[in-house]
Order: sequence, then C-alpha cells, then structure tokens
Amino acid sequence: MHKISKIAVLTSGGDAPGMNPCIRAVVRTAIFNGLNVVGVRQGYKGLIENDMYDMETRSVSNILSLGGTILKTARCLPFRTDEGMETAYQNIKARGIDGLVVIGGDGTFTGALRFSKKYPDIAIIGIPGTIDNDLYGSTYTLGFDTATNTVIEAIDKIRDTADAHDRLFFIEVMGRDSGAIALRAGISCGAEAIMLPEKLTAIEDLIKNLKDGQSNKKSSSIVIVAEGDKNGGVYDIAKAVQKEVTNYDVKVTILGHLQRGGSPSSFDRVLGSRLGFAAVNALIAGETQKMVGLQANHIKLTSLEEALTEHEFKLEEDLLQMVDVLAI
Ligand code: ATP
Repeated sequence: MHKISKIAVLTSGGDAPGMNPCIRAVVRTAIFNGLNVVGVRQGYKGLIENDMYDMETRSVSNILSLGGTILKTARCLPFRTDEGMETAYQNIKARGIDGLVVIGGDGTFTGALRFSKKYPDIAIIGIPGTIDNDLYGSTYTLGFDTATNTVIEAIDKIRDTADAHDRLFFIEVMGRDSGAIALRAGISCGAEAIMLPEKLTAIEDLIKNLKDGQSNKKSSSIVIVAEGDKNGGVYDIAKAVQKEVTNYDVKVTILGHLQRGGSPSSFDRVLGSRLGFAAVNALIAGETQKMVGLQANHIKLTSLEEALTEHEFKLEEDLLQMVDVLAI
C-alpha cells in the first residue's frame, strides 16, 4: 500500500453551506496525522491552472461559521477532456500530492472517478457536498440542512404576508432534480401542497385541494414547487390555478440563490467536521475511489461507482403522506 504524505482538498460544483467546516476538518486532521495539505482554488479549475497553496492549521481559523467556501468553487469544462485531466495530473505530481479530497455533488464525483481510473496512483475520497441531498450512500449531504432552514425562514415570512392578505403563494425552491428541500420545507412550514419531481401532482388535483382548503376557511395557502417539478414551472402552475381559484390573489416567489448562502447550521458544521475527518482517515488507511457518507448516524464508505449509479433522492413517502393530512 502506497503511504500518503501530501493531500490536496478542493470544493467543486455548486457551493453548499458546511463546506468550510469540512475544509477545516480535512486540513487539521491531515496536519494532526503528519501530512502536508494543499488547498486547491476553484475546484478542478485550480488543478488545471495550478492554482493551489500550502495550508496550515491557521489557514482555516474562524471559518466554521462562514457560508460558501474559502477555496472557491467552479464548474470546469476542461476537466471533462483528456487533455485537461492530463494537465491536472502533471500539476498534482509536480507538487508531490498523492491523495485528493473532493467535496461536491455527483458531477464532481463523476470527474473524480474518471480521473482516478486514468491515474490510479492518486488516491481520491469524495465528500457529498450539495444542498440537493441527492447522493446515494449518505442520508444527508452537506448543506441540505442549512439550505432547508433558510427556506423555512423565508417561507415563514411569506406566510405572514399571505395570511394578512388572504393570498395564495407559489414558492419555487432549489434542488435540481431532487425534491428533498421542497419536501422538508413543506412539512416544516405547513404547506398546503408540495410539487415534487419524484411524484407528479396533477393540476386538477392541486386545484381541488386548494378549493377544499378555502371551503375549510383557510385564509392563506402556500404551495411549494421544487425547481425540477415537471408541470412546466412555477409561473405556469400559478397561471393555471389562478384561472380556477378566482377568489385568491395568487403570487409567485422564487427563492433562488439565497438558499445557498448563510452560516451553516449546527447539523452541517458537525456533519462537515465528521466527513472531513473521516475522508482523511480513509486516505491514510489506503482507501480510494470512495465516498464518505452518513448512514444511520454512522460514517460509512461507499464506492464512488455505487454512489453514482444509485444516485437519486429517495422520496420519504411517509412525509409526503402527511402533507394532505396535516394541512386540512
Ligand atoms: P451540484 O450537485 O451542487 O451541482 P456537482 O458536483 O454535481 O454539484 P457539476 O457542475 O455537475 O456540480 O460538476 C462539477 C464539476 O465536475 C464540473 O464542472 C466538471 O469540472 C466536473 N465534471 C462533471 N462531470 C464530469 C465528467 N463526466 N468528466 C469529468 N469531469 C466532470
């Protein structure tokens, strides 16, 4: 087994709150174990452009509470090419780096796996960092909890004004093809309906639901629409409903990028710390092409291959069943 002596850490793809506590844990766990650590700026772009710097324990002081990522992140097209990967490899070798910790989502892992198959002498461990919570092998991904809390705070405020004016709000939340944020936020805010990519809600059923709510003396209603919902987008849904539910004033809010920012929650700080700590220990133990994840509150390794083929958010049916019952 090749002994690791120098590792690099990067954040890639969409940023997620909790990445900074995770970087801190990677850096300090590595140094504690006598390894050298290099920080790579802007994900795979930094590998290709040789934009890296030596990190020390003090390089990660006071970052636990910061959203975003001190290493910056990027979407990097050249890393998808053989030439781009070769340049990255040469830069990594020239610095004497023999292990890589990549924090990101499924795109990041796809790149990591391809790279690792081409250059198996560089060990790679992935850390699931995405607000979408859509990676197999970890019940929760880094950033999901904070993003959901941010959404809840926003929707609570919208509920106040919706109630004051007897309005019906359609609120679009992030998640790409995953309804994870929408579902959790919907339960937490008592949404009247939640539109998810994983389970199509017919517009007629939604209209009936909202009309029933009105006859049940509801003064305001909130419908959460996951951005990946397949009904044609939040504006189309709102328009279709407004035609039928005429006595509600219908409004649309798209929460957008505010969902990515903010200080990480306690859950994401602890999760980031655990995953960063585990990733470095996995590298030291000689592991590669694996993802560290949280399963039944234990840190477990899953092969990147499996994490990617199985990739998807498994809808929690019990939560979905509760929506109609609790919103009567
Ligand atoms: P999020 O889920 O938050 O969007 P992500 O990691 O899925 O995060 P992507 O933009 O899909 O974000 O991927 C991040 C980066 O991974 C890409 O910009 C690219 O550099 C690299 N990558 C993605 N797919 C591949 C691939 N097939 N081959 C090589 N590199 C890839």
